[in-house]
This record gives sequence, structure tokens and C-alpha cells, in this order.
Amino acid sequence: MRLFFKKCISLALCLAASVSLFVSNDFTSEAKSNKTSKNIVVVLDPGHDSTHIGCHYENFEEGLANLYIAYYCKQELEKYSGVTVYMTRYGFDCPYGADQNSKSDCLTGRVDYAKSVGANVIVSLHNDYDPDLDASQNGSKVIIPNPNYKPSYCVVGQNLGSSILNELVGTGLQVNNWKLCPNGTGLVTRDSDSGTYPDGSAKDYYALINRSKTSGIPCIIVEHAFCTNYSDRVNHLSTPEQYQQLGVADATGIAKYYGLALK
Ligand SMILES: [Zn+2]
Repeated sequence: MRLFFKKCISLALCLAASVSLFVSNDFTSEAKSNKTSKNIVVVLDPGHDSTHIGCHYENFEEGLANLYIAYYCKQELEKYSGVTVYMTRYGFDCPYGADQNSKSDCLTGRVDYAKSVGANVIVSLHNDYDPDLDASQNGSKVIIPNPNYKPSYCVVGQNLGSSILNELVGTGLQVNNWKLCPNGTGLVTRDSDSGTYPDGSAKDYYALINRSKTSGIPCIIVEHAFCTNYSDRVNHLSTPEQYQQLGVADATGIAKYYGLALK
């Protein structure tokens, strides 16, 4: 219960930061620069690879599904002008030399790669698995940076995450009310229990988000659907056409957030 409150307080702080930044000049100029900047660099991160395989259940393999979704998302996003799209991996192996014994190096490699191509944002693409096989857990959520250390990244996560969630709901998915933080919004933050940022505040729990934050790049994790939910798996996670629908939804959400126009 303590953890529950901690997480939800964290999101409430993000919402407060969102409102206060929204009315400040800083945020206005940031939003404007997002939308008028000549070129946005988006790094799509298909979660997992052969060094750290994701969830698998019945006929579903997460690492493969995420790769499909990323390819379709890239293809769709490249229909817009003013955006360059990269992927952190294009195949099943870690492209950064990591193996089973050094798998966390792969996450560092992905962030370093994003930095090397001048990423404005990292969008990590995943799917979910309920460890208790709780079939009531279904739908989409986006894990966003917590409000600590660089609060503007939380605001980016909030707005970009909302934009993507809107599109995913349009494919028929529900908004996931994650049992670790049941706030009903589908936008969640998760704090590390022990790690801290240079200012002493709690790190984000997920390494990709906290390493991106310290590297100067906002990062969100999109959890599209639950492979442990029958309807999600059959209707959204079973065919290339369904993966395409998810990838297009992600791309449309990203394009709307940045105000991109079709070529
Ligand atoms: Zn995953």
C-alpha cells in the first residue's frame, strides 16, 4: 500500500508539473519548438532481443511482436515530413555486443545509439504479461518519466503518451488500469526503490527511462496489450495486420504530438 501511494503521488506530481509548465513560458516555447523545429529525430526501440527475451505465452513472442510493430511504425511515420526515424535494432540479436551475461549493457547501448543519432525522443515498444495470469489485466498503458530531476521529461511523456494512447484505444484496445498503480489513466510512472539521480531524487525504475534521462533524452515505454488476456492476444497480437494497426497507431500518436504533416 505504501508503494501504491508513492507511485500515485509521483504521477500526481507529474500532473502538477504538467500544469505549471503548461502555463509557463518555458513550456510554451518548448511545445512551440517541438512543432516548428525543422526536423524531429525519433528513435523507436523494439523492446528485447535474444539477450533478454520478453514475455511469451501461447503462440505469442514479445521480442518478435515488438519488432513487427516498430517496423510498421517507422514505415508509417516516414510518410510525414520533418521527421527522421531510427530503430535500436533491426534483427533479433543485440546490435551492441551484449550477451546473456551483459544484457543490461544492451539497454545502455540503445540509449548511447539514440544519443549518437541526435534523438529528440526514445519510444520503446513493448507488450505485457501478467505474472499471475490475471485475465482482467488488459489493454494499453504508457510508462512515462517520473517528475524527478528533469520534470519537463515527465510532461513530454504525459502529452506524447496521451496522444499515443488515444490512437491505440481507436484500434479497440482498452486503457489498462495497471494493478501496480491503478489510477485509471493508462499513464504511469514507477520509481526505483533505491537508485537516485544526481540531485538525490528517486530514479525511474526502468533502466531505459533513467539512462535516457541522464543522457538528456525523454523516453517512454508503450505497453500495447497483454498477451495473457485472450481478447488482446487474439484480436491485437496475432497477425502482421494487427501489428501494423498498432504500429500505425503509435506513428499517428507521435505525429500528432509533434504536429507533423503528411508529405
Ligand atoms: Zn517487454
